[in-house]
Order: sequence, then C-alpha cells, then structure tokens
Amino acid sequence: HFYNEDMNDAAQEHRALESMIRQALKNREFELHYQPKIDIGTGAVLGSESLIRWNQPERGMIGPDEFIPVAERCQLIVEIGEWVLQEACRQNVVWQKTGMPPLNCSVNLSPFQLRDSRLIQSIDDVLATTGFDPGCLEVEITESAILHNIESITALLRLLRMRGIAVSIDDFGTGYSSLTHLKQLPVDKLKIDRSFVSNIMGHDGDAEITSAAISLGQTFGLKVIAEGVEEQSQLDFLRAEGCDQAQGYFLSRPLSAADFVEWYDAHHDRHAATN
Ligand code: C2E
Ligand code: MG
Ligand code: MG
Repeated sequence: HFYNEDMNDAAQEHRALESMIRQALKNREFELHYQPKIDIGTGAVLGSESLIRWNQPERGMIGPDEFIPVAERCQLIVEIGEWVLQEACRQNVVWQKTGMPPLNCSVNLSPFQLRDSRLIQSIDDVLATTGFDPGCLEVEITESAILHNIESITALLRLLRMRGIAVSIDDFGTGYSSLTHLKQLPVDKLKIDRSFVSNIMGHDGDAEITSAAISLGQTFGLKVIAEGVEEQSQLDFLRAEGCDQAQGYFLSRPLSAADFVEWYDAHHDRHAATN
C-alpha cells in the first residue's frame, strides 16, 4: 500500500549516495572551505567558519546540503564530523605556524554528533594530536539539536566550555528554542539566521526581528554574529544595532585554505591602511 515507484527511486538513490559517501571518506574527497568572520566594530578578522565540500571526481564540487542529510541518516555523519574537526584544527595550527595570529575556528556539529557518546573523547583526541588551542575552537549547533534533549545537551555543552571551547547557536531564530532554554543554556554566541539578515532592508519585520535578536543576545551576555551579510547596507544596519560580528558574501565567500591566506593578507593590509 505504501509503496510506489518514486519511493523505490529515492531509496535506491539514497543507497547509491551512501556508498559513494563511504568511498569519499576513504578516498579523501572531502575538503574544507573557510569563511571569514569579522568584528563589525573594528573590521578585524576574528577567524573563520569551516564548511565542508565534497570534491566528487565525476560530479565536481558538491555542497553540504546535498550530502549531510544522507550522511546523518546512515550515521556516517559521526565519521565525517570527526574528519572535519581534525582537518579544521590541523589547518588552523598550520596557519599559526606560518605566522598568522591565532584565529577563531568554528566547526558545525550535527545533532547526531551531539547524541554520540564518543564526541568529547574525539574532540580531546583531536586537540591532543593537533595541539590546537581549545580557546580558539568554537562549535556551532542548531536550536533543533538542543531541543531534542535539553538536559543531556546542557551537560555536554558544559564539558565543552570547561575545555575553553565556545558554543554558538547557529541559524538562530528559525528553530523553536524557548527563552527559558536560552537563559539556562551554557552558550556564548547567537548566530542570527541568514533569512532575517538578507531581508533586513525589506519591510516585513526582519529588521525588527534582527534588532530583537541582537538585544536578546546582549541581555543574556552573549556575543551576536549575523550570517549571510551580502550588502553594505546590511552591515551598516547591524553595526548601528550593536551586532558584534558578521559573516557573509559581502565580506567573503567561503575560501579554500590557500585562498583564505591570500584574502587574509589583503584584508589585513586594507584594514591596516584604513585604521
Ligand atoms: P551554516 O552552518 O548555517 O553555514 C552557512 C551557509 O551559508 C554556508 O553554506 C555558507 O556558504 C552560506 N553563506 C555564507 N554567507 C552567505 C551569504 O552571504 N549569502 C548566501 N546566500 N549564503 C551564504 P554551505 O557551505 O552550503 O553550508 C550549508 C550548511 O551545511 C551549513 O549551514 C551547515 O548547516 C551545514 N554544514 C556545512 N559544513 C558542515 C560540517 O562540516 N558539518 C555539519 N554537520 N554540517 C555542515
Ligand atoms: Mg554554521
Ligand atoms: Mg547558519
């Protein structure tokens, strides 16, 4: 009764993708790109968000929205997540060794990773093997991940923060986290979702929502970052509202490790010239 041909196609495609992802891990087809985050007040580069891409030999570069959901359903996300953490920390240590100041490095954690009992151990292992300073590491989690099991997530976030790792709530405003949760959660930062930021100059309330989110963050003593900043006018609005940090195409798209260094040097020079 519940069977139709579409489902068969979808299931087959899903299985094919799953085995390709498995292969991709073995063949090292994943890479990280890094999107700069800046201090809105000073313009200084604070660090970067690590974003995974799949460089598939036949299909070219595939974005995370196309394979992360599949990886989550077949539990490969834990292994992918471990690779992301390891690679992001390794790369940031390399940058520091080549003379860049210590920058903040953020990594997205899937709700499935948060529920995996090995998470803390694997983070400790990565920190030990790479020598990366946990004080420079930040994890981004979504509101929906928190809602799932508030008590155990709270305990987990405490363990992260005991290590000096910062916790940021990604896509803030799109989930359903209650203000009670927000007040209690051991987090450091709110990341205002791109959907509000991209519409700041419109007239359907997104500017008001963005201002309210900034105030809310400040009330709780949290840093606030806006994602998806694409225009000067949006940055100006955010600055006027007291938003701390920004990220988005207006500043830079996510960059390969090599391009990030080039961008950093150019931005740094510009920044020095205007200050
Ligand atoms: P996210 O964590 O909210 O990341 C921000 C996404 O917005 C990135 O898409 C980034 O390229 C894009 N973006 C940044 N600035 C702009 C802008 O100004 N305009 C527009 N239109 N887009 C902008 P990306 O890289 O495709 O990643 C999509 C999502 O995939 C991420 O959303 C995150 O949820 C997930 N993701 C990425 N990397 C990882 C990872 O390593 N692990 C896990 N679990 N999820 C990841
Ligand atoms: Mg993110
Ligand atoms: Mg986001």
